[in-house]
Amino acid sequence: MSHVLCNRCKRLMVPRVIFSRSVAGRWGWRVGGGKPISNCCPFCLSEHWDVAVEPSPLRGSILMKLLSIPVTLIMLTLIIGAFSEVSDYLGGSAIVEWIGVIGAFVATYRFGRWFVN
Ligand SMILES: [Zn+2]
Repeated sequence: MSHVLCNRCKRLMVPRVIFSRSVAGRWGWRVGGGKPISNCCPFCLSEHWDVAVEPSPLRGSILMKLLSIPVTLIMLTLIIGAFSEVSDYLGGSAIVEWIGVIGAFVATYRFGRWFVN
């Protein structure tokens, strides 16, 4: 293991890998997750240990988390609205509308996570 310098706390460390969360099953098996998504400094827990300047100090703050709620809600409404327009155009197809609702939730969830982190 080679040590690298953390630009946040100026300590030599071995980056700790962050795994995505998985759904734990009953008999020890897991569904999804467990993939390495990022790494962080074990001392200051910064994911931006390898850059001299942190991308945005606003990111990950409580302000951004609060701000992400109305932003994601607006996005959700817009996507569902767009899909219901499409379904109307296709003669009121309920399937298209459902795909839109599910797609909107997935997209909003992903956007929300990107926005906050
Ligand atoms: Zn550090």
